[in-house]
Amino acid sequence: MIIESVEALPVAMPLPADYSFRAGPFRFAGFRSAVAVKVTTRDGIVGWGEAMNARSTQAITTLINRTLAGLVVGEDASAVNAIWDKIYRSCIKSSGADAGFAIGLSGIDMALWDIRGKAAGMPLYRLLGGWSNGIRTYAGGLSLGFEPPEKLADEALGLVEKGFRALKLRAGDTLEMDFARARKVRESLPDSVSLMIDANTLYSLEECRIAAPRFADMGFLWLEEPFPPQNLAAYRRAGHFANIALAAGENHFTRYDFQELLDIDAIGHVQPDLSKCGGITEALRIAAMASARHVPLSPHSATTSLNYAASIHLLSAIDNPGWFEADASAANPLHHDIGTKPYEIENDGTVRPLDGPGIGIEIDEDLLRAHVLTD
Ligand SMILES: [Mg+2]
Repeated sequence: MIIESVEALPVAMPLPADYSFRAGPFRFAGFRSAVAVKVTTRDGIVGWGEAMNARSTQAITTLINRTLAGLVVGEDASAVNAIWDKIYRSCIKSSGADAGFAIGLSGIDMALWDIRGKAAGMPLYRLLGGWSNGIRTYAGGLSLGFEPPEKLADEALGLVEKGFRALKLRAGDTLEMDFARARKVRESLPDSVSLMIDANTLYSLEECRIAAPRFADMGFLWLEEPFPPQNLAAYRRAGHFANIALAAGENHFTRYDFQELLDIDAIGHVQPDLSKCGGITEALRIAAMASARHVPLSPHSATTSLNYAASIHLLSAIDNPGWFEADASAANPLHHDIGTKPYEIENDGTVRPLDGPGIGIEIDEDLLRAHVLTD
């Protein structure tokens, strides 16, 4: 299975004209973008992966096409560890663009696992030694943002009607508004619905000292990313503020970042993103590190159906699965329209991995190519 070509496609698909989403400084309107990575072997097997756009869709694409592809073409597609190590030795440990390279590597690695599964005729979760059981799922993605409390409660109720048994809210506004939104949603939902909350790195240590006990009192399962990923000292101190788990990891890269994150002994859920952390190969290593510390892994998931499906495969194959982050965005054509639907929410609020070979997403390549960014 010699790799013949690696091609990254910078894709942007339009959102409805009246769509917008806001949570703190994060605003989305107009389009959603991602980098789709196509790897083809000489014997004609095609694998697809996703690299996070990192708000630099063209830069990530160029990094893959101009630098990483040259390291990968001609290698054996089944040798995921050797290819990972080659990119690590050639780029990550020496050239100073660690996150960018890890993101590019993630897209290639995901595509290689898709190829491995297709070659074996097995769905990825089985190739990884997993099984098809229900994975606990919460409503995430670009949903439940900085809306007025009443409107937010209506959105939350609508998601519960769609089958979600857990929802994640956003924090990082004023504390007053954070508490008002959290209280209104908590009061509006049955006790059986679990809640998490994500501050998207926007809290100070003092804000977190006030907020964490309030969210704990309201029964929230975790407080996600109160601080930037570089501020491990704040995470270490905040781990003791209240009886609520801290979650973090969507902005950490490779097992080396996760080792430091786990070593502070304050994180209740690690959240590597398969399109950022170094791919499926690296997520398996991070899962094992977390497992040894009895910490569940709840992957951050965005943006295309490839990453969502791959995340469910991973959760089905590790011994410390946490929660799957489903895409509850009101609109995301990169999730809904580019190929096979990645999951269904079952009656008990869980999801199961796809059973097709590899990741199990049949990509509509013509549609992707019709939405490639030209500049
Ligand atoms: Mg988050």
